[in-house]
Amino acid sequence: MTSKHEYDDQNIFAKILRGEIPNDKVTETEHSLAFKDIRPQAPVHVLVIPKGSYVDFEHFAAEASDEEIVDFIRTAGRISAETGISRGGDGEGFRVIANTSAHGGQEVDHFHLHIIGGRALGPMLSGSEG
Ligand code: AMP
Repeated sequence: MTSKHEYDDQNIFAKILRGEIPNDKVTETEHSLAFKDIRPQAPVHVLVIPKGSYVDFEHFAAEASDEEIVDFIRTAGRISAETGISRGGDGEGFRVIANTSAHGGQEVDHFHLHIIGGRALGPMLSGSEG
């Protein structure tokens, strides 16, 4: 039976993790890596990925170890302060996005969070009133 979480290790983030293509690193821990998006949608646009082979949010939440999940969330949670977009700090807030599969618009099938800020981001979904 084919798993719905089947992971293709030729995806671009797997290549980044193997050091086969470069990345603009923001921070790295034992289980996680954060780097700048190559096509930023706002002044701050950072991607946070687990080092483990997880296809999407659902896969990561179901199968990652507690240690990986804690490491990942703590790492993602530090990006806003490190990039100056925190609420009530030196910034005005931000958005966290985990696109998943076709309807979610996921292009790279290695789980990642987008952390986006540095300007007002408008409606939550395109075509909506907010
Ligand atoms: P998603 O649509 O959620 O899968 O987003 C994938 C993101 O990865 C897009 O915002 C791309 O701009 C970004 N991306 C693709 N290739 C690279 C790369 N080599 N380095 C950094 N970001 C990338």
